[in-house]
Amino acid sequence: MRKPMIAGNWKLHKTIGEALDLASALKQETAEIDDIDIVIAPVFTSLAKVAEQLVGSNIALAGQNCHPAASGAFTGEVSPALLRDAGCRYCIVGHSERRQLFGETDAFINEKVRSLLAAGLDVIFCIGETLEEREGDQMYEVLATQVREGLRDITAAQMSQVVVAYEPVWAIGTGKTASNLQAEEAHAFVRGLLRGLYSEEVAESTRILYGGSVKPDNVDGLMAQMDVDGALVGGASLKADDFLRIIRFRR
Ligand code: PEP
Repeated sequence: MRKPMIAGNWKLHKTIGEALDLASALKQETAEIDDIDIVIAPVFTSLAKVAEQLVGSNIALAGQNCHPAASGAFTGEVSPALLRDAGCRYCIVGHSERRQLFGETDAFINEKVRSLLAAGLDVIFCIGETLEEREGDQMYEVLATQVREGLRDITAAQMSQVVVAYEPVWAIGTGKTASNLQAEEAHAFVRGLLRGLYSEEVAESTRILYGGSVKPDNVDGLMAQMDVDGALVGGASLKADDFLRIIRFRR
């Protein structure tokens, strides 16, 4: 049985004060929930303060990005060890905004995955096709390359620290969600890739989240799919009521 995960990616939103307010509301309302992994990813500047606030809660903290180097002359970057120091258990890697707006390649993303695992953090590894790729019948090839290259040299044992997030680029922040069937098809394909690259055990135990305009009114249908193990939520994670309703999805 894969434990569901609901993760909120706050992107470039919220001051420290706003982040603390939202974290506090979530902490209060999720105190009884222990059958779902709940994760939030505030901006770097809020992490340490939010971590203090989350002590004693069921909510884990994630960085939205990192640099693979441990330290050095990398102005503006944050290492996995520093994320850990700030209280993070997870880090998001390979988000389509990083790939598209900041030119991140599969090879660079792979360096980050390796560096995060070596530093003892868990990875939320994002993949997904663009609309053009989907319409050009390249979706499966694109997903296969992203998985193979992004997870290059990651061992089966290390895969217990990796969560995959399938996020079709055309559904992120657009209000267009993949249909339940489209999500299930992609997730089943990704699970098949993991079976081929690793083993039945790794394929069956790795969680695959869906991301792309997940909202209170579509989460139940998505979570009812056999291979959808959770959600990575952007816009709807910024409001306590919406995010809490998503956390309380009904299967
Ligand atoms: C995301 O940023 O990972 C995301 C899925 O955003 P949204 O839910 O706003 O589409």
